[in-house]
Amino acid sequence: MSITTNGTNGKASHTLHAYRVDGLGQRQSNSHQERVEEIFGADVFSERVMQQRLPKDVFKRLQRTILHGEPIDAALADIVAAAMKEWALERGATHYTHWFQPLTGLTAEKHDSFLTPDGHGGAITEFSGGALVQGEPDASSFPSGGLRATFEARGYTAWDATSPVFINRNGGTATLCIPTAFVSWTGVALDTKVPLLRSMDAVSEQALRILKVFGTDQGVTRVLATAGCEQEYFLVDRAHYFAREDLLACDRTLFGAKPPKGQQLEDHYFGSIPTRVIAFMSEAERELYRLGVPIKTRHNEVAPGQFEIAPIFETANVASDHQMLVMETLRRVAARHGLACILHEKPFKGINGSGKHLNWSLSTNTGVNLLDPRDETHTNMQFLVFLCAVIRAVDTHADLLRASVASAANDHRLGANEAPPAIISIYLGDMLSNIVEQLEKGGAKSTIKGGKLDLGAHALPQIPRHTGDRNRTSPFAFTGNKFEFRAVGSSQTVGWPATILNTIVADSLDYCATQLEKKVGQKFNEAKLQAAVRGLLQQIIKKHKRVIFDGDGYTEEWHREAAKRGLPNFRESVAALATLASKKNIDLFKRFRVLTRQEVESREHILLEKYIKQVMIEAETALVMGKTQILPAAIRQQTELAEAVAATAAADADASEARNALDAYIQTVNHLRNAIATLEEAVNGDHDGEILVHAKHVRDHVRPAMNALRDAADAVETCVASDLWPLPTYRAMLSIK
Ligand code: ADP
Ligand code: MG
Repeated sequence: MSITTNGTNGKASHTLHAYRVDGLGQRQSNSHQERVEEIFGADVFSERVMQQRLPKDVFKRLQRTILHGEPIDAALADIVAAAMKEWALERGATHYTHWFQPLTGLTAEKHDSFLTPDGHGGAITEFSGGALVQGEPDASSFPSGGLRATFEARGYTAWDATSPVFINRNGGTATLCIPTAFVSWTGVALDTKVPLLRSMDAVSEQALRILKVFGTDQGVTRVLATAGCEQEYFLVDRAHYFAREDLLACDRTLFGAKPPKGQQLEDHYFGSIPTRVIAFMSEAERELYRLGVPIKTRHNEVAPGQFEIAPIFETANVASDHQMLVMETLRRVAARHGLACILHEKPFKGINGSGKHLNWSLSTNTGVNLLDPRDETHTNMQFLVFLCAVIRAVDTHADLLRASVASAANDHRLGANEAPPAIISIYLGDMLSNIVEQLEKGGAKSTIKGGKLDLGAHALPQIPRHTGDRNRTSPFAFTGNKFEFRAVGSSQTVGWPATILNTIVADSLDYCATQLEKKVGQKFNEAKLQAAVRGLLQQIIKKHKRVIFDGDGYTEEWHREAAKRGLPNFRESVAALATLASKKNIDLFKRFRVLTRQEVESREHILLEKYIKQVMIEAETALVMGKTQILPAAIRQQTELAEAVAATAAADADASEARNALDAYIQTVNHLRNAIATLEEAVNGDHDGEILVHAKHVRDHVRPAMNALRDAADAVETCVASDLWPLPTYRAMLSIK
């Protein structure tokens, strides 16, 4: 067996052509990007713009900051800020803001005008290097999970030069946005960006050790985590959205009887896109292009009214910032088309929910995708080390991966008979599964080939066949030259799951590198290396193959089989989140300097708190709607039925059937009344106590009472005259045209 690797002399992997990543978070300007900028006039202070507008030496020094994290001095910052200001003013910007991602799951911004009084009754525009590099927002109203008392309100935002500055246009104004990290005045990370950047450092450092062992590290200074996020979403007519308090307050329907036409006909997926929707999509895409977000794909999704948008992948940090812009832009542009964009994981009961597939890989700064198996995969030992490191990471830290996607909203997907299950497993496909089997026996000797598909008609070409089918049911699937983490929820920020992924893989690469370094020693020796790799991979596969599963993840058999294999199955989020700050996990985050104990504990706290708040808002909304809309409608219907019985009897006709119908209906309404009372009790019994106890109360008492109320209300809906029903129905909302 000879060793071929993803060496630096090899050609860059084909997937990296469009956006070659050449440094921490910075895309190499290339012809594609230039074309996009020509067509759409990008509002991005891109590398190209910098090159045009900055003195050569300043540009070079800034590149060194971006690529190698060199500190920025005040003089340099002043020059860059002045150039940014000029550029922004030319493009109509009036204000600037530090743009950051606190632990709310949203972005935050506080605008300052460029205008400053000149002391002589006039005004000048001003933007100093100091204002570019550091901000000081009052941080006391952002979630901190106990990290910062309100009397320590000071927080800092710090410019993240690795993510491009952009101009946000909204409501007729333009604002210069500077992506920043957000920390407390004691330096504790209060956002999603700081840990993500730290985790990228960690995985880079460990991956470089592996490249060094294989001697493929020449010219490589950094390994970058790359991410491409497919966003699923629903569209409903804006009039319907505003007519429903549940959509307004919770972004999901808390009531609604099943429509006769759901997704049975399977006619929506990849179907032709309705005119109003495609007009919305293309406008959203244009805005995103202008912001530098490389949108690529759009299509109808499985459920009626459901769609998807996906960009070309970028370095994880930039992809994560851009993903926030995607969510924001979809929402904003939808309004202009009389639509509302719903990002919730499960807006409609009985209809598929929405996810956000996080495609993830590792790439050298020279553009080599380290998860590209190449043709003769069995000989590509370096790839196999990276592959097995991921397998080991996912098995060892399945709890963390599960916790990284836990939320009240995602509970409606994971573990609820929907894609994907809450059990974390890896799908490898036929070719890799076969190689893994060979490796377990001590060494791989062959690679299954896909061959050609003959379509049986002369006019059609023979097409190459993949070596494995797709598997839509796996939470974590190898898809050709990257992994796809499918359990991520549609409304989530991807920064957090990406942080976890980078960290757990860093841990595994550390393990592999240590083993190999020990066995191979300082001097490169191919025979020794081969033997060491074979031994390592065999041992990893023996220990962790339980996490590999290529079958149907929806089935009951898999749940039984997974239990037999000892795989954790956190069906709901409270249990999953409670594992976040375990000793194993705190040690892991500390070891790779991604999060301190305090920072892990605060995140567990914030996520549990969010769970509680989200469910309680839903419960209170359900009560208001139940009491002021649904029950009154039900009673009007009851009155009509009763009047019909009385009128029928008064007319001396046989009223017995009408009377039976009335009696049966009164039962249905009584169920509704009781269900309201039960939910009210559960909500009033909500107590503050210890956060985990509180979350469990909400899970065990409030949620079931909400579900029961929904069932009762949906039963009433099917009996009430449509002119009496106060809410837009599923039938109406899901037929978006
Ligand atoms: P599918 O629907 O089959 O999963 P899509 O084309 O919709 O495929 O999405 C695939 C996503 O994966 C895109 O965003 C793509 O840019 C991204 N991707 C491709 N290669 C990589 C990579 N090396 N690292 C991260 N993401 C990648
Ligand atoms: Mg996908």
